[in-house]
Amino acid sequence: MSYLGIDIGGTKTALLLERSGARPAYARFDWPAEADADADLAALAGAVSRLIGTGGPRTVRAAGIALPATVRDGLMVAWPSRPSWAGLRVGTLLERVLPGVPVAHEDDGSLAALAEAAATGARDLAYLGVGTGIGGGLVLGGALHSGPRGGAAEIGHMVVDPGGPVCVCGRVGCLQAVASGTTTLARAAALLGAPVAPDAFRTGLAQECAWARDALRPTVAAAVLEAEAAHLLVHAPDRAKREVLRGRLEEHWPGRVTVLDSSDGAPDCDIAVNATPLGMRPADPLPFDPKSLGEGTLVADIVMEPRDTPLLLAASARGLPTHRGHHMLDHQLSLYRTFFGLRRETSAERRARRPSPGDAADASGG
Ligand SMILES: [Zn+2]
Repeated sequence: MSYLGIDIGGTKTALLLERSGARPAYARFDWPAEADADADLAALAGAVSRLIGTGGPRTVRAAGIALPATVRDGLMVAWPSRPSWAGLRVGTLLERVLPGVPVAHEDDGSLAALAEAAATGARDLAYLGVGTGIGGGLVLGGALHSGPRGGAAEIGHMVVDPGGPVCVCGRVGCLQAVASGTTTLARAAALLGAPVAPDAFRTGLAQECAWARDALRPTVAAAVLEAEAAHLLVHAPDRAKREVLRGRLEEHWPGRVTVLDSSDGAPDCDIAVNATPLGMRPADPLPFDPKSLGEGTLVADIVMEPRDTPLLLAASARGLPTHRGHHMLDHQLSLYRTFFGLRRETSAERRARRPSPGDAADASGG
């Protein structure tokens, strides 16, 4: 008997067959060029039957499928990477591909999060998968967390750059339109002047080719410069890394980037941003010491949890204004609501749901 796993992706699909007494068998195929769910299902059914061989589906004891589409009550309601799948029933897919076989299916980002949590022993873990699109999953307290309507950590279609490129979903500036694997390869191809395959991109990065490095521009620093900051001071503990970062930014914003050395003394700046994950764990050191900043410098953090990071607490104690990381999420939530057509919660409903004393304090902070 054998067990079959199928990972359905936006560009390609991978299959793995575990057989008792034999080595596992793998297969991988790209979707047909035309956008047609029927042709896709025929391609998938063909790949499955070639992999399981002459015995047919009855030799498969059970199968698991990782699905990238948004599924509600057994219906695929949206999959921007292959829009023709919207409206397809999961049951139809299973009958076409694996008739009579017990099959479980789950969101691909959620399954990847579970796998990473199991592999690392982490009880709380957020997973982001960057491929054709950007998806993810959330494991909290050792269990998969789907969110109230499913799709926890599905951040690929959150708008991060309203002036950015058009996304496959039709909106402008979604995260995956800016930063997915597909977009990164397209950016690399434009810089190189020729198509770039994933392996060639990896080789280009390993060889530090300018076109490959530029395709992965550092985002927080780039966002600050794109928002017309007159000058950016970059501090990173690793000297070599901050020099590389400075070089990459300098190519696009010449004369506006300076690397900060610990021997430089107190920097004169309006805003100091922690763009590192330091502060997520209690044992983390401060990314920088707010005591070294001038009067009135705004200290901001990208860390969302805890809300008051050690950096922000130290800045407040020093009398500096602060800006919390969770504001990033708060603004994303309204975009989420708009995207999914959800009604905005009234303040009375919010109070009834969460009578938190932190809410009032929060209005004055950040
Ligand atoms: Zn989108």
